[in-house]
Amino acid sequence: MKRSKRALVIGGSLGGLFAASLLRGIGWTVTVFERSTGALASRGAGLGTTRELVETMRRAGARFDVSIAVPMTGYVWLDADGRVVHAQERLNASSTWSRVYLPLREAVPDSDYRAGMTLERVEQKGERVVAHFADGTTAEGDLLIAADGNFSTVRRQFMPDVGPRYAGYVAWRGIMEERDVPAAIRSAHFDKIAFSFPAGEMSLAMPVPGHDDDTRPGHRRYYFIWYRPTTPEALRDLCTDANGLHHGISIPPPLIRPEVIRAVKDDAAERFAPDLAEVIARTELPLLQAISDFESPKLALGRVVLLGDAAFVARPHVAAGVSKAALDAAALADALAGEADVDAALARYERERLDFGRRIVAHSRRLGTLLDGREVPPAQWTGDDAYRDPRRVLRDYGAPHLVHDLTAQDLVA
Ligand SMILES: Cc1cc2nc3c(=O)[nH]c(=O)nc-3n(C[C@H](O)[C@H](O)[C@H](O)COP(=O)(O)OP(=O)(O)OC[C@H]3O[C@@H](n4cnc5c(N)ncnc54)[C@H](O)[C@@H]3O)c2cc1C
Repeated sequence: MKRSKRALVIGGSLGGLFAASLLRGIGWTVTVFERSTGALASRGAGLGTTRELVETMRRAGARFDVSIAVPMTGYVWLDADGRVVHAQERLNASSTWSRVYLPLREAVPDSDYRAGMTLERVEQKGERVVAHFADGTTAEGDLLIAADGNFSTVRRQFMPDVGPRYAGYVAWRGIMEERDVPAAIRSAHFDKIAFSFPAGEMSLAMPVPGHDDDTRPGHRRYYFIWYRPTTPEALRDLCTDANGLHHGISIPPPLIRPEVIRAVKDDAAERFAPDLAEVIARTELPLLQAISDFESPKLALGRVVLLGDAAFVARPHVAAGVSKAALDAAALADALAGEADVDAALARYERERLDFGRRIVAHSRRLGTLLDGREVPPAQWTGDDAYRDPRRVLRDYGAPHLVHDLTAQDLVA
């Protein structure tokens, strides 16, 4: 009897779970190896959705219902007095990371998911690949899928010089219950993405599903993200805790120094409409994220293949990190299903996904142009400087030339 091929998936977050389910669907034996032992689901925040994300979830056999997302009707740009400067109709929907993660995790049998397994290195032997783990054990397969995120151990082994590069700005993020959102926002803008553009900065706020996936009015949550240019030295200070311990380029929210949070809230009061500033003021533990991006020059390295954030990271403005991981996994499954020669299938996957990855990273950089810390008067704008105009940002927000907005109609279809 013909032996089914075996894939080792490193990383049990969304990219790894999509890959595992879709390869199982084409008859491969798959084992996921995830470093973390805790529940990943509790750590996520707001998430951009696309039609492609939902279609791939359905294909992966992930439990699905309309509560995955909160439909929205458009974008508004609010000035510092709360007046609408510009409005644009655009049907789309927002979700939360856990709302995508949990059904995907359920779709992979526990017997195929091994938590607490940290990959240390990969060894290739002709058409076989061996994964070496920190506990001294090994696993062998026909293919190793690196879905181990932006600091991928696998990618660093093969391409040590490729990795995230700080974009020069940070994001402050927060989430709160709908009932705590100031009444003026709830009544006027709650079903839209509300953008603000204080000088050289950008923020968005939007509804997302609430506790227990509740999408009923009154039971949702409100999510904000505020991008601010920050020098590497200032970032270092933000990521240093009260004991002087420096945490690298991110810091657990409870360790952010109280004076840092106070200063952020004071800055919000100066720069935003009072109701939006209030949203930030009412967020007890904002999250701090240094924005970075990178592109891998190769995705197929013998019998090792990079997928999701291990392959490319675009800045969050395209709101498509999860959709890209889903599409990477679908492209890999399609390539392997249509081709008996695994190496030829990996070459096809690489061709397709390099092109997509490069285009989405380039677009995310364009959308972040106005955060580069420079002031360029409109008369001197050239090329991507057009994206210093918030109207242009709103027009092209997301990646509408690469993926499709999810709308309420897609949720029921
Ligand atoms: C807990 C969590 C919360 C997130 N929340 C959001 C969010 O709210 N909004 C949003 O837009 N994006 C979020 N993301 C990012 C989003 O998941 C990714 O951008 C996208 O889904 C692509 O993911 P990925 O699976 O390729 O990589 P990631 O999601 O980064 O997952 C990589 C996985 O690999 C594991 N791993 C890393 N190294 C090793 C190793 N050596 N051995 C074994 N396992 C390893 C990690 O523990 C992690 O689970 C989150 C990611 C995580 C892990």
